[in-house]
Amino acid sequence: MNILVTGGAGFIGSNLCFKLVNEGHKVYCIDNFYSCKKENILYLKKYSNFKFIEHDIIFPLPKKVSETIFDQIYHLACPASPVIYQKDHIYTLKVNFEGTLNILNFAKKQFEKFNVKPKFLFTSTSEVYGDPEVNPQTEDYRGNVNPHGIRSCYDEGKRAAESLCMNFWRKYNLPVKIVRIFNTYGPKMDPQDGRAVSNFIIQALKGKNLTIYGKGNQTRSFQYIGDLIKGMNLYMGLEENYSGPVNLGNPEEISIIDLAKIIIELTNTNVGLDFYDLPKDDPTKRCPDILLAYNKLGWKPEVNIKNGLKKTIEYFRSIV
Ligand code: UDP
Repeated sequence: MNILVTGGAGFIGSNLCFKLVNEGHKVYCIDNFYSCKKENILYLKKYSNFKFIEHDIIFPLPKKVSETIFDQIYHLACPASPVIYQKDHIYTLKVNFEGTLNILNFAKKQFEKFNVKPKFLFTSTSEVYGDPEVNPQTEDYRGNVNPHGIRSCYDEGKRAAESLCMNFWRKYNLPVKIVRIFNTYGPKMDPQDGRAVSNFIIQALKGKNLTIYGKGNQTRSFQYIGDLIKGMNLYMGLEENYSGPVNLGNPEEISIIDLAKIIIELTNTNVGLDFYDLPKDDPTKRCPDILLAYNKLGWKPEVNIKNGLKKTIEYFRSIV
């Protein structure tokens, strides 16, 4: 199959491209390296069925892409780490709205030009639930987002992008699917991302105290990258004409302080914890209800936090 992956050089995107090229698909990867490094895809460039196009999706796609017929489009492109998406809030909003609109219009033009409708999977986020008042979060929970806060460029951006996707489905019958991705970790995470998992592992490996924001009693549910990629593939492959959002996350909920303690134990280090102010609008809890993913896709995560962290620590040991 011909598959387009926007944001294919990022942490999730490069892991997805790796799986797809190994399955023998011809993968066209688009990225502008806004939130990842060129080195991420060096190993992919060795595959003859991997094509890379450096491009910012807020602009129309280049000719060599627009003249290709695609079977599937995975639309991931967007800075996703709070530290990076808050570097330029307006750009983050543009990527989500203008970028998603461009890619959806591109998919629609495939039908007008070539009479094919590529299957389209959009990666949304658990951030659409904001600071949730219900726990765990089901897909029909409408969220508790601060629409003008510092995280809103990402949260509201993704909510607007979901709306675009659903309206392209309603108006043009584009086969659009949405996944809401909960915190994900694993090999190929960017060490500069500022995420809890990457920060803690790097700090521990360097013998530095771990940086806890707030008291560390806020919770997250961390899923291993391999589980996420399987879930995305399954939803893309679903034959049923179903388009609604589906949560993909590991319901093993854990406080940030407990995550820090596990990482100290697994890295076998003797470091302590330093406490800093909690960033504004940082959600107090986050846990997916994954019944829909199980019922629709037969999917549930298989890698528990300790096993996933062991593989991730091995990866960081090899690069720091
Ligand atoms: N966090 C922390 N120390 C760090 C990085 C993050 O305590 O060095 C906290 C952060 O405030 C949040 C949680 O860990 O409450 C998860 O943060 P991350 O950036 O990994 O993901 P997100 O906030 O998008 O869920």
